[in-house]
Amino acid sequence: MKEIGIALLGLGNVGLGTYRILADHARDIERRLGARVRVRHILVRDSGRARPEDVPAALITRDIAPILADPEVSVVVEVMGGLSPAREFLEKAIASGRHVVTANKALLTAHGEALFSQALARGVDLHFEGAVCGGIPIIRTLREALASDRVSSIHGIVNGTTNFILSAMADEGSTYEDALARAQKLGYAEADPTLDVNGMDAAQKLCLLASLAFAARVSPKDVHVEGITSLRPVDITLGREAGYVLKLLAIARRLPEGLDVRVHPAFIPGASPLADVRGAFNAVLLQSAALGASLFSGLGAGSLPTGSAVVSDIIDICRNLLAGVSGRLPMLSAPYVQEVPQIPSDERRGPVYLRFSVSDEPGVLGRIATVLGEKGVSLASVIQRPARPEDPHATIVVFTHTARERDVQAAVQWIDALRSTRSPTQVIRIEEGPGVLRVGG
Ligand code: NAP
Repeated sequence: MKEIGIALLGLGNVGLGTYRILADHARDIERRLGARVRVRHILVRDSGRARPEDVPAALITRDIAPILADPEVSVVVEVMGGLSPAREFLEKAIASGRHVVTANKALLTAHGEALFSQALARGVDLHFEGAVCGGIPIIRTLREALASDRVSSIHGIVNGTTNFILSAMADEGSTYEDALARAQKLGYAEADPTLDVNGMDAAQKLCLLASLAFAARVSPKDVHVEGITSLRPVDITLGREAGYVLKLLAIARRLPEGLDVRVHPAFIPGASPLADVRGAFNAVLLQSAALGASLFSGLGAGSLPTGSAVVSDIIDICRNLLAGVSGRLPMLSAPYVQEVPQIPSDERRGPVYLRFSVSDEPGVLGRIATVLGEKGVSLASVIQRPARPEDPHATIVVFTHTARERDVQAAVQWIDALRSTRSPTQVIRIEEGPGVLRVGG
């Protein structure tokens, strides 16, 4: 049987999952491919460290040079993470005519355009299913299955750490701090969770999704990003009383004026299929002209889920090698992506939830309503809570009708400067579009 040699750069969570799937599913893969995939080298940083027994020690090396010098290596799989030396290793692999696979969203959002152009120029494939939503085949869906369609919006829960934290806050009434500590203890959050909780990890994934869906150049600087650190259990409780569930959403929409691309906490209707996506699960809801709404969900991280995406990419490339073809799929570089105007985030129009913490005295609600009215923000409903032993200030919550974000910001700036306002106002957008609301029907 024909054999195709590959090299793994990295044997951490994803590298080990990739190795194990290739080993455990070898028979199935051989049958589907009509060839054998053989791991010829595994690059690690610390070759002295003990490795799992099922990984032959002879494969492990600290040196990239023999890997690139091995003529039997046709595919180089980067699962080490970080920008450097991952970038240089991939560039060398591409320059030497190797097809490449990566699960590195940070690298692709920082240097993807250069890497994709190099792959295009050299006539090799660059696959990256594992870079977004772990095992969920969403890149393949956008690159291949929906090549016929016209995507109008993406609404995604693409970060498992923040979804775990928000689910724990909603289901168990945990504080943000307690939920984060539990996520870390269970291995759902990194020791340094900054990029997850500040929304940047979701923004990087959204850039890749939006670039593919809209054939547009979308980089993190184009994305309005807000994280989850300022959210409080009271917001989740008050939103729930109004029928909403709070999620960190990655949103990209194609509008006549341009692209609207953002990551922020949002209330979505309890009936939305995204509302049921809990814990470490991810989901992406697409709206497209021909198919309508479609939902993709599953485990967005982890050794085997992400490894399965990486192995699917390897198999895809092996199929191309056996057929003697390459470059069948769009890359994220010119001519496949173009500049598309971006809509400034403060032009968003939609309802919002505003939570004011105010001194418990007469006339405060009237002053708030007046400012909102003067700025063109109209009230849909109001909840008032008097001061309580655990909170010495009164709480006023306003759900607005559709309002322009810039007008909401102007009103909040005024209200936060009032003598009666006790702490900065919490603003949470409400996403009620048909795409968020339901699939089908
Ligand atoms: P990890 O557990 O930290 O493993 C990294 C591996 O790469 C280790 O084996 C490490 O060697 C090796 N490595 C790192 N720097 C190296 C260097 N300079 N030279 C040689 N080897 C080096 O990372 P991971 O969680 O598997 O993530 C890998 C990539 O997959 C990242 O880009 C990540 O964003 C992406 N990803 C991860 C997940 C997930 O669930 N973890 C999901 C989707 C995508 P040592 O073993 O010697 O330290």
